[in-house]
Amino acid sequence: MKKGFLIDMDGVIYRGSQLIPGAERFIQELKLRNIPFMFLTNNSQRTRRDVATKLFRMGIPVEEKHVFTCAMATARFLSTQKPDGTAYVIGEGGLLNALHTNGYSIVDKSPDYVVVGEGRTLSTEMLDTAVQLILDGAKLIATNLDPNCPTDRGTRSGCGAMVAFLETATGTKAFSVGKPSPVMMRAARKELGLMTSETIMIGDTMETDILGGVQMGYRTVLVLSGGTQEADLANYAFRPDMVLDSVADLCGPDQRLDDLVPTMNRDDDTPLDLAEWARVHSG
Ligand SMILES: [Mg+2]
Repeated sequence: MKKGFLIDMDGVIYRGSQLIPGAERFIQELKLRNIPFMFLTNNSQRTRRDVATKLFRMGIPVEEKHVFTCAMATARFLSTQKPDGTAYVIGEGGLLNALHTNGYSIVDKSPDYVVVGEGRTLSTEMLDTAVQLILDGAKLIATNLDPNCPTDRGTRSGCGAMVAFLETATGTKAFSVGKPSPVMMRAARKELGLMTSETIMIGDTMETDILGGVQMGYRTVLVLSGGTQEADLANYAFRPDMVLDSVADLCGPDQRLDDLVPTMNRDDDTPLDLAEWARVHSG
């Protein structure tokens, strides 16, 4: 039986520029056992190649195919909604590149969509342009709605904050593609070639990773190595299947990856026997 992981990066694999202890071993274990996995990020700044290079430099050798960004999800989604469309973009290389790759032209006048991602180049002028374009009929698309983002130098405002600005100024509601949107959660699973019952989402954020996984019927693992404490779980009406200190708990000499499996089984689904599955996959 096949299983695979969708893995959030920030707070799960690294914090800022620091690798989280055990992350390297966990990924190594997945590769060794031939377990499919993909990193899922709500950051639209970088291309999948940039992300793979960043991980490689941190000591996690992965390929482009292991990375799925909300910029990719957004561009692919738009190419199905309106093929060969046009977009005014607030964002950076990762988003521009993904849109171009999917047949989109970047324009300043009469775009089909205003697409919003993270950016360090944001100006009031760009926001005002976006407001006018939306009022003139362009549709507002958010790559994600994360309110803020932790960095090495503290918290920076996220894509969701810019989107809220545009929503307030125009009185329109954005459509968001990134986690927890089923658009991205499903696209990533399809890209990995897995069924719903075969998919496990690991993340550190309840509002995106875990909510997204729960909504899709994936199994979910919350790690406490990022922004969420165990006590925070009381604030949510949904819960992950499993809570761990970090991904280090999923591998290593005591093999908790296998031990913890029974807690993830569900009556309405094929039992998940990771030990058996790992045996099959390592063969
Ligand atoms: Mg995270």
